[in-house]
Amino acid sequence: MKTPVWKRAATLLCALTMALGLNPLPALAREDVPAASDRTGSVQVSLFDEGERSYLPAQTLQVIRILMEGEELTGSVPAFLREGRTLFPLRLVSEALGATVDWLGETRQAVVTWEDRHLVFTLGSPVALADGEEQLLPDGVGPCLASSAGEERTMVPLRFLAEWLGLQVRWENATRTVYLTTGEESRPGEPEMPEEPEPPGEDEPPVIPGYPEEPERPAQTLKGFYVAVDAGHGGYSTGALYEGIREKDINLPIALRVAELLEERGCRVLLTREDDRFVDLYDRSYMANDAGVDIFVSIHANASETDGDFQGIFTYHCPGAQRAKELAQAVQNEVVQATGAMDWGLLAERFVVLKATYMPAILVETGFMSCHEELMRLIDPEYQEKLAQGIARGIEAYLTAGQD
Ligand SMILES: [Zn+2]
Repeated sequence: MKTPVWKRAATLLCALTMALGLNPLPALAREDVPAASDRTGSVQVSLFDEGERSYLPAQTLQVIRILMEGEELTGSVPAFLREGRTLFPLRLVSEALGATVDWLGETRQAVVTWEDRHLVFTLGSPVALADGEEQLLPDGVGPCLASSAGEERTMVPLRFLAEWLGLQVRWENATRTVYLTTGEESRPGEPEMPEEPEPPGEDEPPVIPGYPEEPERPAQTLKGFYVAVDAGHGGYSTGALYEGIREKDINLPIALRVAELLEERGCRVLLTREDDRFVDLYDRSYMANDAGVDIFVSIHANASETDGDFQGIFTYHCPGAQRAKELAQAVQNEVVQATGAMDWGLLAERFVVLKATYMPAILVETGFMSCHEELMRLIDPEYQEKLAQGIARGIEAYLTAGQD
């Protein structure tokens, strides 16, 4: 999948949203215009509805003042109160502390990187991924896009972000002011734990040389199951493009190999594409619905244009889809185990192929093409084999769970 940087997001997002079958969405807005507006009282703000993919009518919201170490943080969209929570322009507070923000356009996510820690916000979602752990945001108030007086900003829950960044947060009701301070001793970064000595390993059983084994036919563990394997992009939809390598060309061989591995286990497989052709996202979903497959597994590769070191594997499921989440976890576990890649865990997202499919559906982001080393692995057939083995094992684990 493509994850354009927000500073040049417009064109990329266009191509992207086209590929996703969505209406063009507003990009994250930049945060370089100093405040000019009156910051007392209230402000007229329109909030973007992620479900409807459009702005809601403007509403009047209480403005909140933010002081960091005594200095006022101001942007052209002020901090405001929504459902009892202060939302604040993401860039301002994170950049004031030297954190970086990457915008994953395709998934509508902002990744805040601070030192070697990561915090992932998903627009419209009350759940954030803080250092790999899912956390419910206070009062369930999630980040959102806000537009005011022609300016657009990504607003995030202030207290949650500030505390994650190790700031002290104090609220003064009379003046509607939030005071942020950096108590040096309270900054995060856990003290290094002394490493436990490795327990002595069990003695390996001696290997007895014998006859070379016949290649065994894998056990028919998936007989009776029917799985859709979806190679992301294809045709004019190239997906991410790095170093002359197109995402669609990485997704396809992995998907074909996953299909093979499943078939070897007796599974029926529906491939949404078997060659380099464009297939509409809704058509992929309807194909799976019409065929009545048991599960749907989409295979993509990721990219971040702002952080060339960002790497690892995510698996997506539709928000609230419990069985999809279990499938996603099973696949994520096995893929990470098979590849040794960085484990980013699960994320919830309403991708077309996840929301228009009736069965448990997931989307695996096999790695970051924007990271040179990971890109080199992604095009390596041996690494693709590991990815495919991991995905197939995850599918098998999910489908056979609870069986004897
Ligand atoms: Zn993709």
